[in-house]
Amino acid sequence: MTSLVELRGVSRVYPATRPVTALHPTDLTVRAGEWVAITGRSGSGKSTLLQILGLLDRPTSGSYLLDGADVSGLSDRARTKLRSSRIGFVFQSFHLMAHRSALENVTVALLYHGCPRRQRIARAAEALDRVGLADRTGAMPTTMSGGERQRVAVARALSIHPQLLLADEPTGNLDSATAEEVLSLFVRLNDEGQTVLMVTHDEQVAARAGRRVEITDGTLHEVTADA
Ligand code: ADP
Ligand code: MG
Repeated sequence: MTSLVELRGVSRVYPATRPVTALHPTDLTVRAGEWVAITGRSGSGKSTLLQILGLLDRPTSGSYLLDGADVSGLSDRARTKLRSSRIGFVFQSFHLMAHRSALENVTVALLYHGCPRRQRIARAAEALDRVGLADRTGAMPTTMSGGERQRVAVARALSIHPQLLLADEPTGNLDSATAEEVLSLFVRLNDEGQTVLMVTHDEQVAARAGRRVEITDGTLHEVTADA
C-alpha cells in the first residue's frame, strides 16, 4: 500500500545572517487513517514540520511524497492549488473571519477548492453539521465560544474532504473542558478514517493519538507506547 505521506531527508533552514536549522534531515512515513501526534518543546520545529506537510512551506532539502507523488519541487502556484484540494488546516487561534457567519467562513474554503457556487452552501452546511454546529450556521464568530469557533475551523478544514487534516495546537487556546470537546471531535473523525497530524504540547491530547513522534531541536524520533 502506498503511504499517504513520505518525507525523505526533509530539512528546513531559515536563511538569516546566522541561518536557523529548524528541521534537520527527517524521514517520516504516515499511512492513510493514522492519527499522529507531534510533540516537543517550544521552538523545536513542530510548526515548521507541519507547514511543510501542509504545503504552506517547502523543504530546503529532501523530498516529500504526498500520496505517492513528489510535491517538493512544485511551484508556489501548483503547491497552493494542491493544498486547497487535499489539505485541511486547523490553527491554535482559529483564523476565522470575524465579520462573516460560520457558514460563510466555511464556504470560502470551498471557493478556493473550486467547488461550484450552487454546491458550496450545501457542503458547508454538511461540514458544520458534522462538527455539531447545524444550528449555528448563521452565527458570527464574535458571538461564539472558543470551542464553537474551533469547531467552525474544523468544519472549514473538513469541507473539502481533505486527504490530510493538519492541526497546530488546536486545543492550545481552550480551557480544559472545551479542549476535551474539540479533542473528542478529532477522535470521532479519526475513527471515521480521517488521517490526522496534530501538533500539541498537551500530554493528554498526545495520549489520544494512535502514534506519537517527538521533535527535539529539529530532530524527529518515534515515541513508543511504554517509553
Ligand atoms: P515550534 O512550533 O516547535 O515552536 P517552530 O517550527 O515555530 O517551532 O520554530 C523552530 C525554530 O525555527 C525556532 O528556532 C524558530 O525561532 C525558528 N523559526 C521559525 N520560523 C522562522 C522564520 N520564519 N524565520 C526564521 N526562523 C524561524
Ligand atoms: Mg509552533
